[in-house]
Amino acid sequence: MDFGIAGKKALVCASSKGLGFGCAQALAREGVDVVMNARSVEALEASAEALRRETGVTVTAVAADITSEEGRAAVLDAAGDVDILVTNAGGPPPGMWQDWAREEFIAALDANMLSPIALMQALVPGMMARGWGRVVNITSQSVKAPIPVLGLSNAARTGLTGFVAGTARQVAAKGVTINNLLPGIHDTDRATALDKGVMDMQGISRDQARAARMATIPAARYGSQEEFGATCAFLCSQYAGFIVGQNVLLDGGGVNATI
Ligand code: NAP
Repeated sequence: MDFGIAGKKALVCASSKGLGFGCAQALAREGVDVVMNARSVEALEASAEALRRETGVTVTAVAADITSEEGRAAVLDAAGDVDILVTNAGGPPPGMWQDWAREEFIAALDANMLSPIALMQALVPGMMARGWGRVVNITSQSVKAPIPVLGLSNAARTGLTGFVAGTARQVAAKGVTINNLLPGIHDTDRATALDKGVMDMQGISRDQARAARMATIPAARYGSQEEFGATCAFLCSQYAGFIVGQNVLLDGGGVNATI
């Protein structure tokens, strides 16, 4: 299926690996020029070069911290006008609700709520003026079903979800859609880090930690960044223009809910 977006330009934040890379790769495979971002130069350049070689699209790599004002300014400056924005950043650390101080909440809000909002504020007006745009925010299944040890994530991402719910309906008439993709457990470094936390806390092996987590997922496996990226590319396609303000869960059935 041709998604009808070849020749467009996308900014995919936090995309040298994992879910962000999956989205950048899927868009590049659709013929979309991609601006990629991450903090570590070496991994970012290697991923950008891999996409250039695989797809032949123009790939621009901007090493910067997307959660800082200066980092965002550098990325926005290099990106210029884009048709597609995929927001993403690292997730907050796990912990206990009574231990988090104001600074930790502010860091989580900055990374997982205020940064994506700032990026939308910078780029959506241009999309509206040109009459076409797609925004996909990578959030988490924790928006639908809280993960107790990830209270910082539960809080910040729910704030973003509320913002998107209203804003998506204010911009849709101009041909711009904003939606959220909610990952359940996917086989990336983030999942490895979460599994390591369980291993340390419970004194079990990596295989035991993975098996225990898989037992909570009806699909009985972790998701892949390729299938996550393909869903992102579909939401950015010409065929997804009537999908507005939705929260699309990719979790192998992990959230046990009828709707
Ligand atoms: P990952 O494999 O650890 O990859 C994170 C990517 O983001 C890397 O390219 C990293 O590169 C970049 N990054 C992190 N912080 C950044 C920053 N401040 N500025 C720019 N780039 C940054 O993580 P993932 O699994 O793809 O997760 C992506 C998001 O989905 C996270 O917010 C995570 O919490 C959420 N999520 C993941 C899962 C899962 O199972 N994987 C489930 C639910 C939610 P650098 O380190 O070089 O910057």
